[in-house]
Amino acid sequence: MRPEVSACLALGANLGDARATLLWAMAAIDALPGCRVMQRSSLYRSAPLDSSGPDYINAAVTLCTTLIAPELLNQLQGLERQAGRERPYRNAPRTLDLDILLYGHAQVYSPRLTIPHPRMLQRAFVLAPLAEIAPLRVSAAQLEAVGSQVCERLAPGA
Ligand code: ATP
Ligand code: MG
Ligand code: MG
Repeated sequence: MRPEVSACLALGANLGDARATLLWAMAAIDALPGCRVMQRSSLYRSAPLDSSGPDYINAAVTLCTTLIAPELLNQLQGLERQAGRERPYRNAPRTLDLDILLYGHAQVYSPRLTIPHPRMLQRAFVLAPLAEIAPLRVSAAQLEAVGSQVCERLAPGA
């Protein structure tokens, strides 16, 4: 039997009904084979950083998975496609972005996959939701370092 690994994902969207898409994605990740979502963060709003278009809605989830990391990436990219994700250019506005932040304590450096996610520590829109659900994986100093970036936690249903 394959071991279960605890992974952390970042979710983001700024095209279409971004809130609805993120809620759909959380349920769809939970329904993936070999995946169980354990914690879901609140939704957050952030201005585009190195990107453009409307404000982003962001969130994070933790999951238990028996998928190996490349399989998990394949499944997440399938969900991005289902949500209509297009990649006309780097950092383009998007209907759904699903990134693997952490996969257990593994370090992965392959052409398709880098874990921990190489830009996670530069982004309040990643660290704030992650700290809400996995406080042991984000330090106070790391949060402080992105403290100038506005990332607003949204009240449920707001
Ligand atoms: P960023 O990586 O800066 O957040 P992005 O999420 O917009 O940018 P994408 O277009 O979604 O980038 O993904 C580009 C490629 O990044 C994917 O095809 C995938 O192979 C690769 N990639 C590398 N590491 C990861 C990771 N940890 N999670 C998701 N994708 C990754
Ligand atoms: Mg991304
Ligand atoms: Mg991505």
